[in-house]
Formats: sequence, C-alpha cells, structure tokens
Amino acid sequence: MRKINNIEEAKIEIAKLHNLDCKEDDVFYQAMEEVLLSIFPLFESDEMYNNSEKNGIIKRLITPDRIIKFKVTWLDDNNIVQVNTGYRVQFNNALGPYKGGLRFHPTVNEGILKFLGFEQILKNALTGLPLGGAKGGSDFDPKGKSDFEVMKFCSAFMKELHKYIGPRIDVPAGDIGVGGREIAYMFGTYKKITSSFEGVLTGKPYFFGGSLMRPEATGYGVVYFTQKMLELEGKESLKGKICTVSGAGNVALHAIEKLYQLEAIPVTCTDSKGMIYDARGVDLPLLKELKLKRRVSLEEYIIAHPEAEYIPVEKYPENGHAVWDIPSYGAFPCATQNELTIVDANNLIKNGTVSITEGANMPSTTEAMHKIASTDICFAPAKAANAGGVAVSGFEMSQNASMQKWTFEEVDLKLKATMEDICLNVSNTAKEYGVEGNYVDGANIAGFKRVADAMIAEGI
Ligand code: NDP
Repeated sequence: MRKINNIEEAKIEIAKLHNLDCKEDDVFYQAMEEVLLSIFPLFESDEMYNNSEKNGIIKRLITPDRIIKFKVTWLDDNNIVQVNTGYRVQFNNALGPYKGGLRFHPTVNEGILKFLGFEQILKNALTGLPLGGAKGGSDFDPKGKSDFEVMKFCSAFMKELHKYIGPRIDVPAGDIGVGGREIAYMFGTYKKITSSFEGVLTGKPYFFGGSLMRPEATGYGVVYFTQKMLELEGKESLKGKICTVSGAGNVALHAIEKLYQLEAIPVTCTDSKGMIYDARGVDLPLLKELKLKRRVSLEEYIIAHPEAEYIPVEKYPENGHAVWDIPSYGAFPCATQNELTIVDANNLIKNGTVSITEGANMPSTTEAMHKIASTDICFAPAKAANAGGVAVSGFEMSQNASMQKWTFEEVDLKLKATMEDICLNVSNTAKEYGVEGNYVDGANIAGFKRVADAMIAEGI
C-alpha cells in the first residue's frame, strides 16, 4: 500500500480500494474512514492484514453479512393503521452471535444502522467477550406515543424480527428510544410467538432475566474508562473537578450519577431542545424524574431551579453547541452522533479541557477529532469508552445461559475491571504501533486485530 500523506489522499485511496462513493456526509463512510486511517500502522507492520493480501479482510469487514429490512404495521390509539420500517443489520459474527442495540428514532435509516453496526463489531471485540456486531431499529418515534401504542409497535416489530434472532444467533438490546419498557414488550411478544423463554434480548427488567446494573452500565463504564485513562496519562483524577455532560438519556444520566459518586461536579446536560447549566451541579433526582419518568423537556428543570440556566437550541453558537463552551476538566458527549463539531472542539481547547470521553456513538465530527488529536487533550473514543453497556449485556447472556443471578456489586466489579482492561489494552496497543497516547488508533487497531484474526482463521 502506498504511503498516505494526508487525509484527502487517504480518502481517495480508501474510496479507490473499496469501490465506494466518496460521500462526505455519510455517517457509515465517516466511521469506516476513521477506522481505516487508524489501522494503517498495522497494515504497514504486518502483510497479513493488508488489503492487497489475499484474505481481502477489509472488503469483508466493511460489508455487512446481511441487511434485513421489513414493514411494521400497527394500530394507533385512534384505530388508524400506521406503517414504519424496521431493520436489522447483521454485520459480523466472527467472534460470537450478532450483538447490538435497537434504535427507535425518526432519523433511523440504513446508513445510520450500518455505521452503528460497524462500530459495534470493533467495540464488542474490545470487551474480550465472544460477541459479534449488529445494529437495528426503526424510524418509529416513541415520543408523544401512549404506553399502549409503544406496546403495539414493539409487538408488531418483534413479529417480524423474531425470524432472524436467537440466543446463539443474534441478541439485540436497547439504544436511543429503546429502554427497559420497550425491551420488555418485545421480549413478551418473542416468548408468545416462539413459546421459548430464552436470553434473546438483553436489557430486560431484572425480575425476568435482566442483569442488575445493565441500565447503569454504559454511563458508569464511560466514567471508569476516563478515570483509568487519566491515571495512565499522569493527569489528576476527576475528584472535585467540574465536568460537562451532553444528553439526558440512559448514558448521560448514569455518567452523571457515577461522576457524583467519584465526587466530581457535573454541571450540564442537554436534550434535543436545549441545555441546562447548573453551576452548583445538576440535580440528578430531578433529571431522572423529568426524563426517565415523565419524559418531558429539560426546560422544566428551571421551574424547580430558577437559578440554573436554560439555553434553547436556537440560541446555540452557529455550527456549535452551548454545552461545549462551559469550561470543564472533563467533557462527556453522551447524546448522539456528530454533536461535537469543530466549533465545539475549538471552545473545549480554548477552555483548557483535560479529557474528552465519547459516551455516545461517534459524537465527534471527523474535523473535530483531528483538531483534538493535535492537542494534548486525553481523548477516549466511543468504541472503547462506551463498551460497558455491551459488556454487561454479555454478562446478562452468561447469567441467562447458566440460570444465575449476579449481585449488583459483582456486576459492578466486573464492569470496572472490564473497562480498565479495555483502557490498558488500547493504551498498550497504541504504544506498540508507535502512536502512544492515541486512544483512537489504539482502539481501532486492537479491535480490528481481534476480529480480523478470527475471520482469517475461520476462512471464507
Ligand atoms: P436515550 O434515548 O436514552 O437518550 C438520548 C439523549 O440524547 C436524549 O436526551 C435525547 O434528547 C438526546 N438526543 C437524541 N438525539 C438528539 C439529537 N439529534 N440532538 C440532540 N440531542 C439528541 O439514548 P441513550 O442514552 O441510550 O444513547 C445515547 C447515545 O449513547 C447514542 O449515541 C447511543 O447509540 C449510545 N450508546 C448507548 C448505549 C446504551 O447502553 N444505551 C450503549 C452504547 C452507546 P430527547 O430527550 O429530547 O430525546
């Protein structure tokens, strides 16, 4: 492979190699490009992985095993038939059964699920568990729907999906718009259709097979990873430090919870409408009440805390997000993809941020990542830092298969150990391939190697 001198050359080379449309705005292309650029040191050092080699490993890795697309019809509360599209991208099962979340959001399409599925392959590989990579979901919007409508949609969705999944085949979980409630409805339908009570979904409520700590796992894991990374990089811990968090869903709220447990001070959170800045530290019980129970806008936060600041999206800086202009020691983007732009990266750098940890999947744009990489900010990429959720999903599969129930403390200890192991592995891999301190390259190389080795060993 010829030497790549800059990102533009690399894009052209990658597009040529893989016969792809060079579409800048495609999130799948963005995710794939990041990985392929990262693993060049591996290609250079080992012919076995190089694309020109006969294994064709890259072409095989970037092509999903299959993309399943189906119609979901359901009756709303006015007895009107509604139609949505459902998907499951079964990307790669070299290491174990397909595994990855389901997203219910109006923006869901094939490209987004391909990007998420691709990321999931390497993330799952980093956990060290026997898990393949997949992602699925629907353009259904749970917002504003009654509980009964959500149940009917989930049931209709599973009537199609059940044909393609199984505890040894494909084990979906939650993601944006899919929490314990939706998983429980889908599990109920799967059980009725198949008459089989088995670990086919993770993120189930505890009382019928879920693992303790699955709801907390991603957010807690993000903070465990950050603590370890700061320690390895010789920086001060999060204790007593101001932190900024975006999002107000599962990942963000549990990251905030763990930050408080470690005596850090999380001062922000966001939703799709705006941002809360509470300089004394955000009121977590109130946030849980607003977002997990009542499912309302964050704007209501200031009714209880008029001294806090609410900034609606319309007042965000141009091409940026107000949350990333609040000075902090640690920044935690935990909402959605591409929510941290170059404008935001410049603000974080200007404000002296020490660490940025991606809780959401691919929250930083390519431009933002390159800018951050040119500084000494400790940057933890999503596929390593947010792997705690899928790790505990793996623990849930183990508990289901062996009919066991682990305690909260047991799961928490295993989660912490897993996140620290991932962090060490990523850091050591970066060192081994001459990119010390670069956790993006370290994560991509370590994850890719594990999957590629299995694919080569298993043959075509
Ligand atoms: P939730 O649905 O629980 O929460 C998502 C949060 O992000 C909500 O506060 C939502 O706002 C906000 N949000 C969603 N879309 C946008 C947008 N376009 N602009 C601004 N804000 C937005 O999802 P999760 O917390 O589960 O997931 C968050 C991220 O973490 C996703 O990238 C997901 O893929 C990733 N992730 C999740 C895992 C998990 O275990 N749940 C595991 C690994 C990764 P609003 O309340 O207004 O809708």
